[in-house]
Amino acid sequence: MKKIKLGVAACAAVILALSNVTIMTSAAVDSDAMPKAAVASSKSDASQIIVDTKTAAPGEDVTVALSLKNNPGITGMVLRISYDSTALKLKLVEDKWSNLMYSQTLDVNPYKIMWFDGLNNVKTNGEVCNFTFTVNENAALKDYDIEVSYSEGDICDNLEQDVHFDMVSGKITVKNPTVDVTGVTLTPAKKELKIGETVTLTSKITPDNATDKKVTYKSSNEKIATVDANGKVTAIAEGSADITATTADGKYTATSKITVVHVHNLVKVAKKDATCTENGNIEYYKCEKDGAMFADAEGKKALTESDIVIKAVAHKFGDWNITLAATETAEGVEERVCGDCGKKETRSIPKLNPGDDKPTTDNPGGDKPATDNPGDDKPATDDNPGTGSSASLSAALGALALGAAVVMKKKK
Ligand SMILES: [Zn+2]
Ligand SMILES: [Zn+2]
Repeated sequence: MKKIKLGVAACAAVILALSNVTIMTSAAVDSDAMPKAAVASSKSDASQIIVDTKTAAPGEDVTVALSLKNNPGITGMVLRISYDSTALKLKLVEDKWSNLMYSQTLDVNPYKIMWFDGLNNVKTNGEVCNFTFTVNENAALKDYDIEVSYSEGDICDNLEQDVHFDMVSGKITVKNPTVDVTGVTLTPAKKELKIGETVTLTSKITPDNATDKKVTYKSSNEKIATVDANGKVTAIAEGSADITATTADGKYTATSKITVVHVHNLVKVAKKDATCTENGNIEYYKCEKDGAMFADAEGKKALTESDIVIKAVAHKFGDWNITLAATETAEGVEERVCGDCGKKETRSIPKLNPGDDKPTTDNPGGDKPATDNPGDDKPATDDNPGTGSSASLSAALGALALGAAVVMKKKK
C-alpha cells in the first residue's frame, strides 16, 4: 500500500481508512513518547504479531487472539486477517486496546483492523483484539490458517519510519467434538494358557463414540506373559501375570489375569521286573518336569509310588548240599543256591563228636579167633568206609533240622 504523508506523522493506510471508520471506545493505551528502533536483533526478542491456534468442531464458535510481542513502539498499524470463508464465518471482533478502528462489516475477507495514536509511540504488548469465528457445520475436518499480514508502510512510528514485525499466522483445527472416555473393560478377565499359547484380549471403551478409544497394554510380569500393542498375550513360563489396559487419557484401567499352567512332559518308563533283591516297576509315564506319574500317556490317571512298584521277591533257595563233609577234626561245608538268581549261600557243618558215630559192634577184633592169620591183624585201617558217610549223613540230617528251624523262625 502506498504511503502518503500527512501533516502529523501517520501511516498512509490508517489515514486512508479514516474516511470510513468506526472508532471504538477510547480508553487510554500505554504509550511511550520515545522513538525506538524497529528491527529486532534476534529471534527470541523479534517483534511479532501472532495469531492463536485453536481447535473447534463443526458448528462451534472459536475465538483466536491477535497479540503483539516485543513491540518496539508504534504510532500506527493496519493489519489484515484472512481466512477460509467456506469453512469459517467471522462472528465477532473484540477490541482489547479499546481504540481500534474497523472499517468493514464482518463478512469482508481479509478483515482489516486499524489503530492510530497520532503522536506517541505505543509499546503495548499482548492481545490487541480477538476474533470469534463460527465453524461451518459442513466444514471439512482439517486445519484452516488464520493469516495476519500488513503491507509496507502500514506499521510505523511517530517519525513515519516503517516498523517491522514478523507475522505468525494461526490456525483453527476443525475436528469432531471430543467425547471423553468413561470406562474400559478387558475380556477375557482371566485366562489359562499353556507355555507358548496366545490369547488376544479385547478392550472395550465406553462410550462407544468416545473420541480416543486407544488403550495401551502392559504385563505385570513379562517373564510369565508378554503383551503386544494389540493386546495379544503370549505365555512364556509357568506362573501368573496381570495384563492391564490403560485408556489414552490415563484415567481408566482394566485387568486380565493370565495364568500360565503346568503342562506335563510325559515320558514312558518301561516295565522292569523285580529281582530277588531289587524292586521293579510296572510300565508308567513320568513328567520330566515335576516327576508326576501316570498310567497313561495323556496324564489322566495319576499313580503313586506304591502303584508302580513291583516288590523284590525273596531268593528261591534249593536244598542244602554238603560240599565238604565234617569230620571229628574239621568242620564241613554245605551250600544252597537260589534257583532264580543263582546266589549261593554256604554254611559250616560242625565237627563230628568222637564216638557218636562208631558202632560199638564194629570191631570185635579183640576177640579174634585165633585164626592166626598174621595178616589178619591189620591195623585200624579197617575202618568201615561206611562210618564216614553215616556220620556225614547224620550231620546232614542235623543240618536239615537246623535249616528247618531257621525257616520256621523266618516264617514267624
Ligand atoms: Zn508335570
Ligand atoms: Zn535269588
